[in-house]
Amino acid sequence: CGIIGILGKNQVAPQLVEALKRLEYRGYDSAGVATVDDAGQLARRRAVGKLVNLSDLLVHDPLSGRSGIGHTRWATHGAATEGNAHPHRHGGVAVVHNGIIENFRELRAELAEAGIVAQTETDTETVALLTGHHMAQGMAPLAAVQATLKKLHGAFALAFLFQGEGDLMIGARKGSPLALGHGDGEMFLGSDAIALAPFTDRITYLEDGDHVVLTRNSAEIFDADGRRANRDVARIDVGA
Ligand code: GLU
Repeated sequence: CGIIGILGKNQVAPQLVEALKRLEYRGYDSAGVATVDDAGQLARRRAVGKLVNLSDLLVHDPLSGRSGIGHTRWATHGAATEGNAHPHRHGGVAVVHNGIIENFRELRAELAEAGIVAQTETDTETVALLTGHHMAQGMAPLAAVQATLKKLHGAFALAFLFQGEGDLMIGARKGSPLALGHGDGEMFLGSDAIALAPFTDRITYLEDGDHVVLTRNSAEIFDADGRRANRDVARIDVGA
């Protein structure tokens, strides 16, 4: 299972798949990508099985955009189906997740009271539902994600992408690894430096409980208490 996120200069769908291939060693049962295109449209493609199924799908049904997130899934909650594959989407937000949201049943019950009904069997979908719900209530993407993170129990690495926001990506981690890659007018998120090696060797490892707001030219990191945090940028040579 793995996560990749790119705010890039070029078409990201092939880059996302390339990075996911570098995370194959972790094992997975399905995969998916979401992009925001130059008109701000958020769209996704998902496929069960090997990454070649996803890349074949992208040949027949391409996704354009220079901003994107990708995921290889190792199912913990819900069968390995296309519907349960990530990215999960609700309204203007798409999210990929590694780990387990322990309290997803409670969160689902709360959402149901607000009239929002889960469409999948996954724990992850509740993250998309909550964040989309917060945005529908008028919150900006960062505030919506922060309100969601406060409600999550469990282990997670998360990457969020937003409709109409081609220069924004938000990441968060607790109990699962997530690294940030600094490019030249490009920014990356990945489960590890190996996934990011084709793009950059300048890596920041997020600390447990951190979340980060990325644009192509900035990375604003917040710690578990919501305070601005400085994390080192290291040169990591894992071989591209
Ligand atoms: N718990 C999530 C799911 O079953 C994420 C699994 C993963 O880490 O890939 O969809």
